[in-house]
Amino acid sequence: MKSKVYCYHCMTYHHPETMRQMQTPRGKRWRCIRSIEAAQNHPDERDAFGERQSELNRAMARSSQEQRIFERRLQTLSC
Ligand SMILES: [Zn+2]
Repeated sequence: MKSKVYCYHCMTYHHPETMRQMQTPRGKRWRCIRSIEAAQNHPDERDAFGERQSELNRAMARSSQEQRIFERRLQTLSC
């Protein structure tokens, strides 16, 4: 009988041949391929959500700053 491996994503045990080892901030963890593929189909998956959100915030802050500079430039041109 094969031993099952704990899946940190599903918080349950799966057969190791349906799983992949993932590098997480807390070290190597096992996760099932099914949940990895599901996460790729749903990009707002919990794991990457916070990171992506702060990236988005940075990008938005940057673009609004550029927008202000652009508008200021337009105003000086029209004067
Ligand atoms: Zn799983």
